[in-house]
Amino acid sequence: MSSFNFKRESPSAESQVIFFDGSMDENAKLPTFDSLVQAKSLVFDFENCGVINSSGIKTWVKLMYELSDLEGVNITLRNCQPLILDQINMIEGFLPPNGTVESIHVRLFCEKCEKEFSVLKKVDQLHDGLGDVVADLKQVDCETFPKCKQFINLDMHPDKALTFMHRMKK
Ligand SMILES: [Zn+2]
Repeated sequence: MSSFNFKRESPSAESQVIFFDGSMDENAKLPTFDSLVQAKSLVFDFENCGVINSSGIKTWVKLMYELSDLEGVNITLRNCQPLILDQINMIEGFLPPNGTVESIHVRLFCEKCEKEFSVLKKVDQLHDGLGDVVADLKQVDCETFPKCKQFINLDMHPDKALTFMHRMKK
């Protein structure tokens, strides 16, 4: 049984926001192409979908491939969890040519508290890379923050994590 679901919102007649929830695996039913084809703006929200397997990747890439053929359609990937970001960077077609990544969860690790957490960052604020992410931390879910701030490190490759930025159309 799949624990995957999605919720759909239509902020306007021409736009849809799809909120994923659960693991995108072989049982995951994505929205059908026909149910999306009317919209000019499609936003896919991964806030509650941090797990994906090879079957889920295949299903997703197929849908993106179909949607990338549509003229004048913009696809946005929002609140991408680290594992989703990995696929965006590694898998050809995971981010379609008409697609944009709006925001990503940057994974961090505090060596003092031995705690892993992530902070959400807007991609258009990351043109200087991930170097300032730790310095910019105001509040995090960490036991002795801000005292432990000096022990917090990026838990992603600073360049590889942003490979997708070169592929996004400006
Ligand atoms: Zn800490």
